[in-house]
Amino acid sequence: MHPPATVFCDFDGTVTREDSFDAVAGAVAPELWGRLKRQLFAFELNLREAMAQLAAGLGPPDLAAMEAHMDRFSPRPGFLPFLDALDQGGIPFVLVSGGLEPLVERVLGPHRGRLHALVAAQVEAAAGGGLEFASPWSDGQELVAKARVLDRYGRGRRVVIGDSITDLGMARVADLVFAREPLCDWLSERGIHHHRWNDFDDVANVLRAEGLLPPAAVAAPGSPAADAAARPAPAAG
Ligand SMILES: [Mg+2]
Repeated sequence: MHPPATVFCDFDGTVTREDSFDAVAGAVAPELWGRLKRQLFAFELNLREAMAQLAAGLGPPDLAAMEAHMDRFSPRPGFLPFLDALDQGGIPFVLVSGGLEPLVERVLGPHRGRLHALVAAQVEAAAGGGLEFASPWSDGQELVAKARVLDRYGRGRRVVIGDSITDLGMARVADLVFAREPLCDWLSERGIHHHRWNDFDDVANVLRAEGLLPPAAVAAPGSPAADAAARPAPAAG
């Protein structure tokens, strides 16, 4: 059956509460990443250039350190219930990250089988001893051009969930956009309609209102949950 929608979800700062890529890049290369980030957020440097410069300044031990740093991150509390709700609605979930696959895998590896696809940049050893980031999804502007991933995997309405600069391109071409700061500010400046969200429950509620997910499960009459709900609350004291 044709799915009613496909969800495209960013990883850093979206699946994770904190922007994990920002945190681990800042931990291994604070000065370099600090400068690149300033230029990126001022739109003086594009994502492809910034990631190439970051890779050139790192070596294999930095990748190992970044992977180890990822162990302090986990998905937001509502993430797995959100995947359950999408399963019920027959909506595929595509994880699409502008970051690095080994870092995303470190957190989402145990849930890999629940994702329709996982798209992120690969890390390779460069000839000079540094690193290179590569992706079949790159274009002139972005290392992982997320809008191209929407074209490849999008069936039904294309739902985008994100938080920052790597999500701007896919938000422009999506049918339904969920944005946290700073993405929501850039979208507002550009007149791109979006829903602000704080947790995955907010997203699920809008998807229900749009008819893309079935209504939230209501306890069947006579079930223990319904009985508990019907019982008067015990008097205080
Ligand atoms: Mg992000």
